[in-house]
Amino acid sequence: MTNQRTVLMQKFISKMADSNGVVKGTSPFSFFKKIPKVELHAHINGSISAETIEKLIQRKAGCANLNNKVSQWETTIRKGDKRSLQESLAMFGIIYQLVDDNSTVFHVTKSVIEDFAEDNVRYLELRSMTKQSYVEAVFAAIEEARHTVPSIIVRFIMAINRKLGPDDALDTVQLALQYKAKANGLLVGIDLSGDPKVSDVEDSRILLDLIPDRIGHGTCLHPENGGSQDLVSIVEKYEIPIELCLTSNVKSQTVSSFADHHMDYWYNGKNHHCIICTDDKGVFSTTLSEEYSLVAETFNLTHQQVWNLTYSSINYIFAEESVKNALKEIWREEGKNLMNIN
Ligand SMILES: [Zn+2]
Repeated sequence: MTNQRTVLMQKFISKMADSNGVVKGTSPFSFFKKIPKVELHAHINGSISAETIEKLIQRKAGCANLNNKVSQWETTIRKGDKRSLQESLAMFGIIYQLVDDNSTVFHVTKSVIEDFAEDNVRYLELRSMTKQSYVEAVFAAIEEARHTVPSIIVRFIMAINRKLGPDDALDTVQLALQYKAKANGLLVGIDLSGDPKVSDVEDSRILLDLIPDRIGHGTCLHPENGGSQDLVSIVEKYEIPIELCLTSNVKSQTVSSFADHHMDYWYNGKNHHCIICTDDKGVFSTTLSEEYSLVAETFNLTHQQVWNLTYSSINYIFAEESVKNALKEIWREEGKNLMNIN
């Protein structure tokens, strides 16, 4: 990269950081940045920052016959928060082509953990559809981050894509059982993921009959959005917490606007357990602080309500009881300064 390009790139990245609200000092946004947070729904690949992707692209730029592709990739990632749905989807394709060996998996997992720690996330559950050969690299990155980024506790959820059928799902379950035993408690769950637009009420019913410990998105549960009262009743009866990802839902157009987000239905309407999450912070150009800021603005929440949301998220983490207690202690300490809690 020439010097001039490096300077332009740095300008671009710092502009992006500004527009993402990552480096604001005294604006009201700083409250959302300062409060300790819990992130329970974050896919590794979708969480890679534009800055890290840029570095990966530059590494690939050395490969023959890639010049055309590289400039197309750069155009898409430089769109930042103005990325269209098509460009966001293209991002996943680019990332898939870039993250294709063990050392890259290790590197991006570590960089994602560092990003979340920088955003004052104190507990993080990362998830990924993980080929057997990459699992070790993910765990190695989490282990190393214990020492290099000690402010954040990280656990891993192995994801099954329902679209890939029962054989693939069974392979993942077997892999998960294997690593549950040997990954020092780092593997804490299995994610049954799928496209909400291709599943129906019957599908959702089968999944809910398993009584999951948490629900990701929950976009199509309530009757107004293709779900049913029956599904809502199960979620309420078993008090299953819902992971809500506002920017992701609106940018990927599964929800039409922030004001129409089903957080209103569950949180305001039913006082149900809700957990604010990012889903894919890199692809959708967001941070967990921004998601809390957005939720507060959209639904008129006070700082105390936002604080209570972060604190209650601790109850729904998959790590052991001692981790929950340690996190609650951190919130108690930080609450003294941030919320005047004694
Ligand atoms: Zn997701």
